[in-house]
Amino acid sequence: MEALADLDARIAGCRACPRLVAWREEVARTKRAAFADQTYWGRPVPGFGPSDARLLIVGLAPAAHGGNRTGLGVPPLGEFTGDRSGDVLYRALYDVGLASQPTSVAVDDGLELYGVRVTAPVHCAPPANKPTPGERETCRAWLVQELRLLRPTVRAVVVLGAFGWQATLPALAEAGWRVPRPRPAFAHGARVALDGLDGPDGLAGLELFGCFHVSQRNTFTGRLTPAMLRAVLATAATAAGLPGMPHEG
Ligand code: SF4
Repeated sequence: MEALADLDARIAGCRACPRLVAWREEVARTKRAAFADQTYWGRPVPGFGPSDARLLIVGLAPAAHGGNRTGLGVPPLGEFTGDRSGDVLYRALYDVGLASQPTSVAVDDGLELYGVRVTAPVHCAPPANKPTPGERETCRAWLVQELRLLRPTVRAVVVLGAFGWQATLPALAEAGWRVPRPRPAFAHGARVALDGLDGPDGLAGLELFGCFHVSQRNTFTGRLTPAMLRAVLATAATAAGLPGMPHEG
């Protein structure tokens, strides 16, 4: 079976969505003034984290001047590196013992995730942070393959926001888990147990969690507080069998 690193390399070369290819490359050429001296990545941002992750976090899409910028010639450290959403997410992951440090600013800053992988339902930065449903459908094939490769170990999935939820439920079904009909609705705090389909490899079930996205619109307004995010991550880590523990301070 293909290794996750090989899948990540194939994702990084994808050009399936013409609008997103044009946008990510245009942003990489024109840059934001504050980053004018940097070489933008300008390509799809693959998932980040160990290939035997027990917990998968599914976001939305990389930011034009975040994940789309921070690769410096190699793939960035996932969707959230180098943007404000990442500041919130990595702080929370660190606080519950799932990350080696509370920030992820650049590809060479030494961040390590413990048993956790972060991925996106859309791997390219979209205009106005809004991929279309069609682009989500196109990119879902990558998410299905990532889930299949994680099947031996993944036991919990946290989805950040309704957009990612819409991509993840059918991807989980395609990758081999039983998703109830009608499909469960997205909500912050949603928790759904999914059985694995019977098969030769005896696929294990997993628990699916909904959480508001870590966007500035949610975090600046207090719709999603750090305590709410920590609570979902800690519960999901326990469900996944991870020994996350609070950091001091
Ligand atoms: S969004 Fe996904 S499918 Fe579309 S070009 Fe990027 S990596 Fe490929």
